[in-house]
Amino acid sequence: MGDKIALVEAGGTKFIVGVGDTSRQIHARTRIETTRPEDTIPAAVEWLRARGGDYAAVGIASFGPLDLDRASPTWGRITRTAKPHWSGADIAGPFARAFGCAVAIDTDVNGAALAEWRWGAGQGAATVLYLTVGTGIGGGAVVGGRLIHGLSHPEMGHIRMPRHPADADFPGHCPFHGDCLEGLAAGPSIIARWGVSLSDLSADHPAHDIIAWYLAQASQTFRAVLDPARIILGGGVMSTPGLLDRVRAHVGRLWGGYFPGNPDDIIVPPALGPDTGLLGALALVR
Ligand code: ZN
Repeated sequence: MGDKIALVEAGGTKFIVGVGDTSRQIHARTRIETTRPEDTIPAAVEWLRARGGDYAAVGIASFGPLDLDRASPTWGRITRTAKPHWSGADIAGPFARAFGCAVAIDTDVNGAALAEWRWGAGQGAATVLYLTVGTGIGGGAVVGGRLIHGLSHPEMGHIRMPRHPADADFPGHCPFHGDCLEGLAAGPSIIARWGVSLSDLSADHPAHDIIAWYLAQASQTFRAVLDPARIILGGGVMSTPGLLDRVRAHVGRLWGGYFPGNPDDIIVPPALGPDTGLLGALALVR
């Protein structure tokens, strides 16, 4: 057993809090509903304190957007968000004060990208992109063993998109940009158009092909910019049966001999399973 690490997967609907160690074992975990920061975060701290509190480090993989500039007075806080009560919420600070140890914090998708590169579907690849397609869309990239950061973190879900010809009238569902990638292909945009989630629509419903087409267009853009050896597609929408293969088929047509590589080898599902969030928090610490 390695050093004892406190792990926090801070999500928009729930926090998963766990105790792990540097040998990649997770020994305990719990689930705390995400309500208001003044309730949820102290509950997470108390649960961790009840398990000894003697942590070598805290790893936090959080929903965003986050201020990740270490020199900023608001480092470790949520910045602007449409989620009520959470704009400006201090995520890292309460854990740093409670346990007096180093805190590593990044977005949940960056944590997942790093964990998949280190232990999962991206092992051995020089450049890996992880895209989660769920209630939102987020992306993280590991290049040469390091996560891409700039002013803060990438916002790959908010790239501009071409419009599918059969979907041209939908205004998009992103509160900030309308018809960005997230506004066109995340879960809420699917419900806004068709009333149910993608997995609840019959396999011959055109929605499957429209969503796959958008994800393939986005993959083309990320391929052109980053040249990833793996594009890992995860998240709740991607668990729709058949969707990954539809994306690969569209990608094959789009790449059409220009970009090298077989889409079936490059566009892949995550490999780490239900503990990805906590493993992401752990990867951020190591
Ligand atoms: Zn957007």
